[in-house]
Amino acid sequence: MSRMNQPAARLAALLLVATALMPASTIWAQSTQPNDTAYTRLIKEYLQDPRISTELVDHLPASATVPTPLKFNGRIVGAPGELTYAHQIHAYMRTIADASPRAKVWSIGKSMEGRDMIVMAIADEQTIQNLDTYKGMLHELTDPRVTSGARAQEIIEKLGKPIYWVTSGMHSPETGGPEMLQELAYRLVVEETPFIQDIRKNLIVFITPVIEVDGREKEVDTYYFNKGRPEGESRLPLVYWGKYVAHDDNRDGMGQFLNLTKNVTKTWLEWTPTIMHDLHEAQSYLYASTGTGPYNESFDPITIDEWWVMAENEVIEMTKRGVPGVWTYGFYDGWTPNYMFTIAHAHNGIGRFYEVASYGPDNRTMRVGATTTSREWFRPNPPLPTIEWGPRNNTNIQESALLFSLKYTADRKSWFLENYWLKNKRQVQMGKDGPVNAWVIPADQRRKADAVDAVNELLRQGLEVNRANGDFTAGGIQVHKGDFIARADQPFRILADIYFGLQQFSLANPRPYDDTGWTFQLMRNIDLKEIKDTTVLRQAMTPVTYPAKAPGGITGNGAVIVVDNTTDNNLMAFRMRNAKMRMLAAEKDFEMAGHQFRAGAFIIPQGNRSAIQAGLADLGLSAWAGSMPDVPTHDLDVPRIGYIHSWQRTQDEGWVRAAMDSYGVPYTYFGDNMVAKQGDLRKKYDVILLPQMGGSAQSQVNGMAMTGKLPLPYKKTDQFPNLGANDQSDDIRGGMGFDGLVALAKFVQDGGTLIVEGSTSNIFPSYGLTPGVSVDDAPNLIAPGSIHRGVFVDKASPLAYGYDGDELPVYYKGDVVLTAGGGLGRAFRGFGGGGNSPWQNTTPMATKPRLSPWEPDSAQAAGRGGRGGGQAEEMAQFRQMARRFGVSFDEGSPRVVLKFPDNPQQILLSGTLDGADAITGKAQLVDAPVGNGHVVMFAIRPYWRWQTQGTFFLGFNAILNWNDLDVGKAHPAATEPEGGRGR
Ligand SMILES: [Zn+2]
Repeated sequence: MSRMNQPAARLAALLLVATALMPASTIWAQSTQPNDTAYTRLIKEYLQDPRISTELVDHLPASATVPTPLKFNGRIVGAPGELTYAHQIHAYMRTIADASPRAKVWSIGKSMEGRDMIVMAIADEQTIQNLDTYKGMLHELTDPRVTSGARAQEIIEKLGKPIYWVTSGMHSPETGGPEMLQELAYRLVVEETPFIQDIRKNLIVFITPVIEVDGREKEVDTYYFNKGRPEGESRLPLVYWGKYVAHDDNRDGMGQFLNLTKNVTKTWLEWTPTIMHDLHEAQSYLYASTGTGPYNESFDPITIDEWWVMAENEVIEMTKRGVPGVWTYGFYDGWTPNYMFTIAHAHNGIGRFYEVASYGPDNRTMRVGATTTSREWFRPNPPLPTIEWGPRNNTNIQESALLFSLKYTADRKSWFLENYWLKNKRQVQMGKDGPVNAWVIPADQRRKADAVDAVNELLRQGLEVNRANGDFTAGGIQVHKGDFIARADQPFRILADIYFGLQQFSLANPRPYDDTGWTFQLMRNIDLKEIKDTTVLRQAMTPVTYPAKAPGGITGNGAVIVVDNTTDNNLMAFRMRNAKMRMLAAEKDFEMAGHQFRAGAFIIPQGNRSAIQAGLADLGLSAWAGSMPDVPTHDLDVPRIGYIHSWQRTQDEGWVRAAMDSYGVPYTYFGDNMVAKQGDLRKKYDVILLPQMGGSAQSQVNGMAMTGKLPLPYKKTDQFPNLGANDQSDDIRGGMGFDGLVALAKFVQDGGTLIVEGSTSNIFPSYGLTPGVSVDDAPNLIAPGSIHRGVFVDKASPLAYGYDGDELPVYYKGDVVLTAGGGLGRAFRGFGGGGNSPWQNTTPMATKPRLSPWEPDSAQAAGRGGRGGGQAEEMAQFRQMARRFGVSFDEGSPRVVLKFPDNPQQILLSGTLDGADAITGKAQLVDAPVGNGHVVMFAIRPYWRWQTQGTFFLGFNAILNWNDLDVGKAHPAATEPEGGRGR
């Protein structure tokens, strides 16, 4: 939907709201039920502004059987200065369910750190007793291939009930949703007003109060830890949320690495809820999601209309009651399908969210700017410039709006069920009508293990996948027996449509909220074909049961076993599981046992064949046996790996850690403040990973400021048992500093390999430590997370081992623009030239004026901003110190392995890109030799959000070949042919 159409859409939505039966607001409160007077009195006492209230939440009914939150927790929801742990919230939910036949609680799985995730179902007693019957009816509505129109009509009009699934606690510092949901659960179970009775009768409410349970426990510990700190001392940030990522836990909807996403998907597929509603806190005072558009083009238009009527209902009901600041439209776009609630959209449900002004939990005066208080068509009753705010305001506003939404859905249950049925029907029909009738993933493709991994991911997310029973051709595509086929005539076709399409995000749109391109098969570098021919639907095929397995094992006889390097990520697991086994890497293409191998193939001179056979079969990898091939090789020495994380921002490295952990790569993990304190890094490590931290070179080196007098520990204690996750430190302040940077430079010069990506690729060039590599300023570049073309420049480099062809789709989001010498020792043009200070090249991109339709992201700009002055002096100081420790700044000869195309028109593959000139021909992957070692620098993000499996192996190659990266390097003075190095 374009922006021009929004007012029209709103009008249509309002008409829909107006035509529905709308009793006067006052009748909602009618009940003879006594209130819990203590609780009700405290609601009034804690509320900071009487306007932030409705008749739905200004009281709490009493119950003789079900304990209130006050009775259970010792305080009401919205009590200032207190937060509740997830395990306590769960205990309360279970207590309600034990006390009432109107509720039921069960576990939906464990978090990454092993904590329980739950769902609570609330409805009337009869419904709770027959939950499986209602589940079955929703499944019937899901599948029009087996359900008749007459049966669907019966379910829609008489028998069925929608499931409205409320979730919260995804973003751990957004603390109010989990608190409020305790009171909502109590109210829904206990209250006897017609309003609440209608909800119980017509709807099944699911509540998951805390999605990120690991992060919640850390957040509550962190809050109380800081509460105990003296005034003026530094405050502990929420260092880790979940085990791996922070805010990106809500960007896992497609990649689905995290247990929380997997558990929600599993629960979704089991229950096929109608609506998922996720509660967040990032706007004033309550934003109900619709978004500015452009909306994701795969979403059913019905869904988008449902967003509008539901949001407008909340806006009008709250506005009618004089509650200011409830609005829709002007936040977030609706384009990227990587939020958790996309699980709803990808299965024909409705995904929506609130952004509420923060719970706190401390009372405060809240002031908001003119862009928030302006009266707009989408915000007719805007927030006030100043208001007294507190946790009870937060509770009141979101509990009220949510209750209006539940009532709205309950009153229109048949309408929502009909829409759901229609969406499923339309998806099946679209698959028949085409143009795309099926997608095929060839089973015998080069990266067959990763192709099967992709199939398994699709299966796990609910897409039906079949295997061809025999060879056939359809739409000009040759399909072989055993190839994977996702038919388009299935209800969850929409998931395939969302994932497999190419994205074209116009620059005429508002600034994108997140990634603009995500095409599944490009990110995973697998072969996937569309079939536009209905005859494919009549071919014989057999459903695949999860998990599918790629064939693997050894062909032929001989003492030497060669595993083809296909860049299947399981190869990394194979090497690490057999770390003690001697393996060599072939340095050139060769033939053995009738099979053509690529450079990088793993040669096992001798080993236990049956053990290797079993390992390869398990991982879906293929090997051939023969006699020692005549090809130059080097040992694949398994390195000792050090892994540096920032204490300021752990999220980005979390995605790299996810890949390392998943493929069994061991490492020693330590904070930036420990880099210098480790002593001689080279004595301990062969490879050091320093993943993206965000910010400028300077801010990444400086780390967390040395604020206050007291140290700032991140440690597990009896009082705060949830702190100290992943890593601990007596004082997390101080960063790596100059001495840490010198230690890293020494590590490389002494023969270590340092691997950096995104923002950390900025550090060495900016400090003049990788001569020949410079960081370019790119004020006009707009590259907000898209898929671009990578062109291999130097396939003789071990970093390129196993990759097929001359190109590779890569994910890039403008973190850094690298220029390198081109691999032939071209004169170094970075640090030290007259007037060409490296700092000129490190000014954060986002703080420069942009000739673009989009404003810079203010949060990003703040994060990237370095200090204004003193940079030249600081550099001089650093060089002086580094020289004292023997760090050399000699000329280098960086080797570009992968780069952007030389033609700007050929760069973008999926998403959007503007100012392409800034990256045309620039380096994506550089191997910068420094002394006896290497800095492997990625401008791209090879481990992005568990979606870029196709580029994982670039990093794995760096680890596997860490001490042989010079192989295949063309020396400018050399006359011998490239790769002539023997062993
Ligand atoms: Zn949030």
